[in-house]
Amino acid sequence: MNQLYETIDQSIMKHLDAYTEMVKQMYEHPEIGFQEFETQKMLSTYLINAGFDTKTGVVCETDFVAEYKSKKAGPTIAFMCEYDALPEVGHGCGHNLIAGIGIAAGEALKEIADEIGGVIRVMGTPAEENFGGKVHMAKAGLFDDVDAALMIHPDTRTSVGITTSALNPVKFEFYGKNAHGCMPQEGKSALDAAVMTYLQINLMRQFVEPNTFIHGIIKDGGKAANVIPAYASLEYYFRAPTMEYTLEVTNKAIACAKGACEACGTTFETSVYECPYEDTLINYTLADMLMEKFHALGLEDVESVDESCIGSSDVGAVSYVCPTLQGMIKIAETDVAGHSKEMAAATISETGRKGLLDGAKSIAYIACDLICDPNKLQMVKDEFAKSKK
Ligand SMILES: [Zn+2]
Ligand SMILES: [Zn+2]
Repeated sequence: MNQLYETIDQSIMKHLDAYTEMVKQMYEHPEIGFQEFETQKMLSTYLINAGFDTKTGVVCETDFVAEYKSKKAGPTIAFMCEYDALPEVGHGCGHNLIAGIGIAAGEALKEIADEIGGVIRVMGTPAEENFGGKVHMAKAGLFDDVDAALMIHPDTRTSVGITTSALNPVKFEFYGKNAHGCMPQEGKSALDAAVMTYLQINLMRQFVEPNTFIHGIIKDGGKAANVIPAYASLEYYFRAPTMEYTLEVTNKAIACAKGACEACGTTFETSVYECPYEDTLINYTLADMLMEKFHALGLEDVESVDESCIGSSDVGAVSYVCPTLQGMIKIAETDVAGHSKEMAAATISETGRKGLLDGAKSIAYIACDLICDPNKLQMVKDEFAKSKK
């Protein structure tokens, strides 16, 4: 086994400058969700030249799927590459580094694939921050035959996993009747219905389960003070530890809107205005493997799975289709904010380069273990089947 790890290390070291150059290119030319055309071109071209059978625009316009089928049968391991940036702060979430890590791990595994067997899939999953590239790719079945999907996200600490909240983004639209501001009795205020709904949802907060997050805005509250608004709208994010409970909370909020409309004589409609995200199903067998690899690489202060359900990720969608691992690797100090220019700068720093190296090695080692040790893979799959229930 040591010899296999050595080949992985050599492959990553050999191409490390090329990976860091790609990370730097993305840093200098950040592209936001579903606009990642240049990034897609650069990454997919690299993978084509590295000998992967590569397709672009498979489900989303800016995705890619690069596959290498080895000469021997074996499991299919996916490395997920995110590469969308944020407005204002560019790669402030460090997704450029995720892409570098995924490609490095994929290329390293390809070096030993003909010897150990299996299929390697490097998946370009766009628009994690807002439009859920992975949700669409998972829905289209691209992860159905994957035995394990792996990725490493840069962070201000090193940990072997993070639970995330299920997210349901719901828009409420209220319909009333216009009237002159001095003849309000002839109108029905959609704004009043929206405000009452907003207040009623606030009152509901006390009665929801812990780790439920409800955040909303008044998107449209009318156009002029002297016109009774016939239209108003609210946009909400409902988040909770499971999608089931998130939908239950959504239904309670819909009941608030019903009551408000009854009082105001208005009507309303709801719609899901952005992509809903599942919570992330943790695979603790994979998390334990990552702990072992991080320790073997000499990483310090490695935290176990963070169960606090902060934020949401489209990784959740994948985690319900196949065993999934999202580890975090420290590239910046704890006072650096998650979405910031400082975090973006860390991706091209010396610690960023070290994060790429250790991140890529750790998931390539795990992939190698899963292919070479069918019992381990079975443990991962058994846990997945059990936790999905
Ligand atoms: Zn991120
Ligand atoms: Zn982010």
